Amino acid sequence: MELTMEAKNIRNFCIISHIDHGKSTLADRFLELTGTVEKRKMREQFLDMMDLERERGITIKMQPVRMIYKEFILNLIDTPGHIDFSYEVSRALRAVEGAILLVDATQGVQAQTIANVEMAKSSGLKIIPVINKIDLPSARIEETREEIKKLLGIEKILEISAKTGEGVETLLEEVIGRIPAPVPTFQSEPRGLVFDFEYSPHQGIIIYVRMFDGAIKKGDGLMLSQINEKFNVAEVGIFSPNRNPVSILKAGEIGYIVTNIKKPGIGLVGDSVVGFNPPAGGSLPALPGYFQPRPVVWASVYPESQDDFDLLKQSLERLRLSDSSLVYEEENGGVLGRGFRSGFLGMLHLEIIMERLKREFNLKLIIAAPTVIYKIIFMDGKEREIYSPAFFPDEHLIKKIFEPWVEMQIILPVEKIGPLIRILHDHEAEIGATRQFGDSAGRSLLNVDMPLRELMRNFFDELKSVTAGYGSLNYKISGWREVKNGAINRLDILVAEEVVPALSRIVSRLKIEREAKETVEKLAKILPRALFVIKIQAKGLGRIIASRSIPALKKDVTGYLYGGDRTRKMKLWQKQKRGKKKLKEKGKVNIPPEVFIKMMRS
Ligand code: GDP
Ligand code: MG
Repeated sequence: MELTMEAKNIRNFCIISHIDHGKSTLADRFLELTGTVEKRKMREQFLDMMDLERERGITIKMQPVRMIYKEFILNLIDTPGHIDFSYEVSRALRAVEGAILLVDATQGVQAQTIANVEMAKSSGLKIIPVINKIDLPSARIEETREEIKKLLGIEKILEISAKTGEGVETLLEEVIGRIPAPVPTFQSEPRGLVFDFEYSPHQGIIIYVRMFDGAIKKGDGLMLSQINEKFNVAEVGIFSPNRNPVSILKAGEIGYIVTNIKKPGIGLVGDSVVGFNPPAGGSLPALPGYFQPRPVVWASVYPESQDDFDLLKQSLERLRLSDSSLVYEEENGGVLGRGFRSGFLGMLHLEIIMERLKREFNLKLIIAAPTVIYKIIFMDGKEREIYSPAFFPDEHLIKKIFEPWVEMQIILPVEKIGPLIRILHDHEAEIGATRQFGDSAGRSLLNVDMPLRELMRNFFDELKSVTAGYGSLNYKISGWREVKNGAINRLDILVAEEVVPALSRIVSRLKIEREAKETVEKLAKILPRALFVIKIQAKGLGRIIASRSIPALKKDVTGYLYGGDRTRKMKLWQKQKRGKKKLKEKGKVNIPPEVFIKMMRS
């Protein structure tokens, strides 16, 4: 068949590695070598196209690009390295036949290296191991080689410098030689895997597709299989790396489809595009899809101004198209009005989504009450999953609480184990087997179990700082464990005797007193004074744990009256008194949005 003839010249691959090991820089060299990007347009980490990626120096979104080299079409997908974005990686892996595994020679194999190898293997990919940064004097090439050999059992390991370009051309030849071409298809009906989306106000939903069968072109009638949405192809094209229209996309190729569907809420990654109106025998069945990852941390997002609620809703829908790991549901946040309880794959993911909402959609937001999920068995036997502190029940209603635990692997220099152990204890961890990692590098691999809630309590940063940046971790949720009786409690914050739900949190018994005091003190500093005394309290364990009063603002309401018109002054004082009383009776203190923003900043 004609199609398969051409497919034999296609190589689809991605670059995977631990964060900062040089994926995007290697992609730069490929882009130059293949003349994909003009020299004068070249800039570092070219494929990190979002401003946010460039500022932070990290890749957040996978980015496909097609390159032409000799008689070959090379489709490369650059991927993120941080664990919060490994869902992006897993999706990219399903669209390709092979992966370049990059390992920084100054760092050696790190936790995400191992995790990425596992993912690539389970997707059945051909892996090409490569040692990067060999130009650096601190490169430990031999040790790194040994570590990779142990991890993969592969002898043939390439050495490159993505910075100077040394060895990069050889690597490209190896990609062509070792990574298989797409498996030939004998179907003429079109079918492709949807591995990502983008939304354009003018063109609607744009599908990122890996074609597995048949071919598609402008005007074809297609269907998103799982959601049963039909559309006519408005345009097909490739990434070079900007969208570039072509006349046809064939089996084995990676490209995009413009749908003109203007409903950002409907797309589903892992779905298949298939032809509708097939001549006989119906459309092809959908390809196996993607799993939907479970959120790790939940937080509420409110617009600072309720006028922006609809905009926030639309923005979340749009973001979800290109980041299907994001989940959210509407909720009412009391003083904060309407917002969304949203689930994220980690704290960095949360931070990035917030930043994108602000930048890409011009939203001003308040983020409240981050927490993990808990499973509560009530006294009456009912069971419920709770991921909002405000709904965490009072102790007397609870029979049992279960919380998620994680299983992690930490790789770090041997001499940092001591200091780390102290931090592990503070995070309620159980330390399992420890073994030497690699041969002579003086590094260890620790197996650790920890409550997810403790992992989310800044553990990443603490690990980084205690190991001077040389520690890395990988984790997966290992299951539910029962929380010891009374070990976890809801802590409420009351302002003028009223609970402020957005400030409620779930705290471990060990930390509740400290947290109560700190929160009250902090709020007392931030909350603007009023014309009356405001009482701030922290309530937990069935009692008031901490309390503080903010003195009333002495505003001289008569100040602007000259002279001695005593009666008028008296009148004003009376009025002020009544006002205070009224405010007290209503018990309402207006908490401005800035207060919540400042409270969430640690
Ligand atoms: P990624 O997170 O894997 O995409 O890594 P980047 O490509 O963003 O690179 C991380 C850092 O390592 C950047 O500062 C690069 O300039 C640097 N880097 C990447 N490859 C090399 C290399 O071969 N040699 C040197 N000296 N630095 C490199
Ligand atoms: Mg990168």
